[in-house]
Amino acid sequence: MKLLVVEDEIKTGEYLKQGLSEAGFMVDLAHNGLDGHHLAMTEQYDLAILDVMLPDVDGWRILKSIRESGKDIPVLFLTARDSIDDRVKGLELGADDYLVKPFAFAELLARVRTLLRRGAVTTTELNLRIANLELDLARHRASRGGKRIHLTAKEFTLLELLVRRQGEVLPRSLIASQVWDMNFDSDTNVIDVAIRRLRAKIDDAFEPKLIQTVRGMGYMIDMADTDTDAPSK
Ligand code: CA
Repeated sequence: MKLLVVEDEIKTGEYLKQGLSEAGFMVDLAHNGLDGHHLAMTEQYDLAILDVMLPDVDGWRILKSIRESGKDIPVLFLTARDSIDDRVKGLELGADDYLVKPFAFAELLARVRTLLRRGAVTTTELNLRIANLELDLARHRASRGGKRIHLTAKEFTLLELLVRRQGEVLPRSLIASQVWDMNFDSDTNVIDVAIRRLRAKIDDAFEPKLIQTVRGMGYMIDMADTDTDAPSK
């Protein structure tokens, strides 16, 4: 699942991004309201975490735009003070929950999971699918041809990214930043190793082969069985 975090305090933002990534979510982090607003309007998210007090476009404004554009995603607010006014305003604008800073990460994670479960009943994008591969986003489960495939949290996130952007070649650098929240040196093979493991689980015993290597560019998941990098064992 993909989350948007808008938080202008650099440390808090990075902390949230890291924690949520480790919990298996894909996270886009914006350090200001303008970028956050832009991302909220142009990208697809399953949930947004918005700091209220932002120097430019504040959290209220972003929430208002999200709701006006008809996006029904859960929105969790981070507020610096526990004021009734803020709470009422947030609820009136369509916020789903709020947390008062400082908060424990475990609490935030629990709220996020609750909101996603609650939203799951109405959200249409509960499952991602390509060919006979299916991802159950709410339960973090993958299956192919009805057979359950056991994946680690990272493998699931990697697969989710590939399936969400099926047909698109994803450069290693993009995979590194989205799945590992890191910038890898170009000579590292962490991603290649992860892809190989994922392939062994979702492709080896099934047809058609879905994960394609695009030499010199990256990886993609696609229906066409035109792997240009046939494994030489
Ligand atoms: Ca702030």
